[in-house]
Amino acid sequence: MQSLKELYKIGRGPSSSHTMGPERAVLKIKEKYKEADSYKAVLYGSLALTGKGHGTDKIIAETFSPIECEIVFDKKTPCDVHPNTMEIYAYKAGKEIGKETVYSVGGGTVAFKNETIKPEKNVYPHDSFLEICEYCASKNIRIWQYVLEYEGEEIFSYLGKVWEQMKDSVRQGLTTTGVLPGGLETKRKAQFLYNQRHIDESAQTRENRLVCSYAFAVSEQNASGGTIVTAPTCGACGVVPSVLMYYQEKNGFSDEKIIKALATGGIIGNLIKKNASISGAECGCQAEIGSACSMAAGALAELFEMGLSQIEYAAEVAMEHHLGLTCDPIGGLVQIPCIERNAVAAMRAINALSLANFLTDTRKISFDMVVKVMYETGKNLLSDYRETSSGGLAKHYKCHEE
Ligand code: SF4
Repeated sequence: MQSLKELYKIGRGPSSSHTMGPERAVLKIKEKYKEADSYKAVLYGSLALTGKGHGTDKIIAETFSPIECEIVFDKKTPCDVHPNTMEIYAYKAGKEIGKETVYSVGGGTVAFKNETIKPEKNVYPHDSFLEICEYCASKNIRIWQYVLEYEGEEIFSYLGKVWEQMKDSVRQGLTTTGVLPGGLETKRKAQFLYNQRHIDESAQTRENRLVCSYAFAVSEQNASGGTIVTAPTCGACGVVPSVLMYYQEKNGFSDEKIIKALATGGIIGNLIKKNASISGAECGCQAEIGSACSMAAGALAELFEMGLSQIEYAAEVAMEHHLGLTCDPIGGLVQIPCIERNAVAAMRAINALSLANFLTDTRKISFDMVVKVMYETGKNLLSDYRETSSGGLAKHYKCHEE
């Protein structure tokens, strides 16, 4: 598995696979073809079908700028390897000098066909929760200590920056009102939720309302192209910060403790990324929101210093009840159902923590098993439900541009 820096990325929304990934790919290609004087990008699969709504064309053109890049949306040619595929041609004086096939595999990570441009190297030797668990148990260490062992002290200062950005995204989202861009006329709701009182306000309903307002805040920042942290993706960026922010405020947990929780949640996300997918285009929303919920539940379990088995249970149960969740963003925008879905998943992460507190000894399903099932389920989802905006809510909601 790669560094947690490859999972938690600080950058601008609204989509890690449709904006951050292509942006990273273009930067690498520009570096390789320094002599090019024009480019052409051909987008396939989900990049072609929802690229307009997600701003893929805009980010590619801006990142190549001032060099010109022609953008082609090829909605017909099937993608054999990955649903987020693009080809970039480099030209010099009208003559092709190179071509790169790139897969945007989720969370802003890109892979180049035949590794023409090398991927980031692996820093962790273990690839399953079971292996990590056995290793940690043998050394009597917690998961955040495992992260420290393989990534060194530097990762904690990086996670400190991640946490600062997460808090900033919550604050910014709570203080911004208005309508989100893209034409759906979606109103920002974070501040409204934060300031309301439930019809039956109690400690429990207040908790739900505040956690939801934080999740809306971050997700609305993302939808407006603001800066957020992929956790593990842009579309699912509101879940982890909302629960951690709420519990920091409620229980006074130090930033240091939150960073350890982020490290633990990061390993959960990394395992899903390695053994399944965190891409909505590849495996539906279960791969994005399900993964974010799983990371948040694992992080919360660390915050409360639960044992390895309880951390595993919390992460497992959070994913298990997202299995089959489809990706059907209306108008190809990361707004409906995405923003609200972050809030619902944040509440589920807290529920998962509660179940882990009581039921860990009774569990029969392992985290590794549920990740495998999620991947198989995702591969069996019709493409209509994998970020193509051709099924589900995206199909039935009529009031948007075709
Ligand atoms: S529906 Fe889920 S997977 Fe699809 S774009 Fe929205 S958040 Fe991402």
